[in-house]
Amino acid sequence: MKKIDYKTEIIQPDIINDLINKKTDNSKIDEILNKALKLKGLELEESAELLNVDDEETAEKIFKAAKQLKEIIYGNRIVLFAPLYAANVCTNNCLYCGFRRDNNSIKRCVLTPDEVAEEAKAIMELGHKRIVLLTGEDYKETGLDYLENCINKIYEAKVFNGEIRRINVNIAPLSVEDFKRLNSFGIGTYQLFQETYNEEIYKYVHPVGKKADYRWRLEAMDRALEAGLHDVGIGPLFGLADYRFETLATLMHSHHLDAKFGVGPHTISVPRIEPAKGVTFSENPPEKIDEFNFKKIVAVLRLSVPYTGIILSTRETPILRKQLCDLGASQISAESRVNPGGYSVHKESDSQFTMSDNRSLDEVVKALIKDGYTPSFCTACYRKGRVGKDFMDLAKPGLIKQFCQPNAVSTLAEYIYDYASEETKELGLKFIEEQISETENAATQSLLTDMIARVAAGERDVYN
Ligand code: SAM
Ligand code: SF4
Repeated sequence: MKKIDYKTEIIQPDIINDLINKKTDNSKIDEILNKALKLKGLELEESAELLNVDDEETAEKIFKAAKQLKEIIYGNRIVLFAPLYAANVCTNNCLYCGFRRDNNSIKRCVLTPDEVAEEAKAIMELGHKRIVLLTGEDYKETGLDYLENCINKIYEAKVFNGEIRRINVNIAPLSVEDFKRLNSFGIGTYQLFQETYNEEIYKYVHPVGKKADYRWRLEAMDRALEAGLHDVGIGPLFGLADYRFETLATLMHSHHLDAKFGVGPHTISVPRIEPAKGVTFSENPPEKIDEFNFKKIVAVLRLSVPYTGIILSTRETPILRKQLCDLGASQISAESRVNPGGYSVHKESDSQFTMSDNRSLDEVVKALIKDGYTPSFCTACYRKGRVGKDFMDLAKPGLIKQFCQPNAVSTLAEYIYDYASEETKELGLKFIEEQISETENAATQSLLTDMIARVAAGERDVYN
C-alpha cells in the first residue's frame, strides 16, 4: 500500500473503505502484535488487519496483547473524573441527543456561574479533583464570557481539603481567535467528538444549526492546536456508522494531528449512543455495536496509538467497564450526573442520556482496588507543564509511568484519608502499602514513601 499523506487531508474515506473491505490475513496478526508491543504504534493498514478479525480465537490474541501493552505504558493506574453539565439548552437538533432543540419533553436550564460553582463543590465533596465541563451548543446562552465566569468560579471554589485542579471542556467548536481566548482560561484538554466521520451520515443526523457543517467540526482540532491549545481529545459516537470506518477514521484523525502538529490527541473517547428521554432515534441507533466488537475497538486503539489516553464514561455497565480497562481504557468517569444541576442544585432537571453505571465514587474506587488498579486523581502533568509535545515525548517511549505511579498513589492516599468509607479505607491503606513495597526502582520507592508520609501527616496536593 502506498504511504498515506496525513498532512493535507484529515479524513480520506476511500482509503478507509478499501481497508475495511479487505479480508484479514490471519498470518500477519502475530507480527503486527509484536510490533505494537514494542510501543511503535501501528500503521492504519495494520490497525485495519486487527479490526477486521472476526473469530474469537484471534481476537483473544489481540486482547492479550492490548492488556500487556496497557500494563507496560500505564501500569495499573486508572484516572477518575466527573462531568459537570452547565446547561442543556441547544440550538442544534442532533437526532440522537436528549438536549436536541426539538425535544419538548425535557426541562431546560442554564446554571448561573454561582450554581456551577455549587455543583463543583458537590463534586469535590465526593472526592473528585478533575472534571469535564459540558454545555449544549448555544453561543448566546453559553458563550465564552459565560464559560470564563464558570471556569473562574470553579477554580475559586473550595471545600475542606477539596478543590478542582483540572477542568477539561467539551463544548462546541470555536474559531482560532475564540480558541485562543478559551486557552487563556486555564483549561486542561479540549474535547470534541466528531460523532461520525462519515460525511453523508453526519449530514443526516445533524440536519440544522451550526453543527450541520461537517468540516467546521472536523477541522476544529486543527484550529485548536493552531490557537495554542496543548491537549485535545477526539472520538466518534459509536452507533451512527460502521464501527470499523469510525475507528480507522479516528486513527486517521490522530495521525493527521501528529503529522501536522507533532502531537497526537491526548485522549480518545469511545462513547456509544444510549437511550435519551423523548428521543426515539437513540433507542435504536442504526449501527449498534455489540460487546465483542466494542472490546476489539478499545484493544485496537490501545495497540495503534499507545501514548493516547482512552476515556470511558458511565454510559457502560460496571462489568464491561472493568473489561475495557483491562484492554486499554485509562480514564473513567464515576458517580456522574449528566443533567445540569444534577449533583446538588437542580437534581430533578433532565439528563442527556441514560447511564448504565450508577455506583458511587467510593464503590468505584473500592472495585478498582479489588481488581488491582490504582484509582488516580492525579492532575500533575498539566500543572508541571508536561503537556502537548512535552507530554508525548515522555509518553511515546513509555517514560511517563515513572511520574504517574507515585502521583497516582499519592492522590489515592488523599482520597482515602479525606473521603473513603471505612471499608474502602481499610482496603486502600493496605493497597497503598503494597504499591510502595512493589515499586521496583529504589529512588521511586523512596520518593513514594516520602509522598505518602506527607499525605498521612495532613499535607495535600503532593505531586512530582
Ligand atoms: N454540545 C456540544 C457538542 O455536541 O459538541 C458539547 C458536547 S455534548 C454535551 C457531549 C457529547 O454527548 C456529544 O458530543 C455526543 O457525542 C454525546 N451524546 C449525545 N447524545 C448522546 C446519547 N444519546 N448517548 C450517548 N452520548 C450522547
Ligand atoms: Fe446539542 Fe451537543 Fe446534544 Fe447535539 S450533541 S443536540 S450539539 S448538546
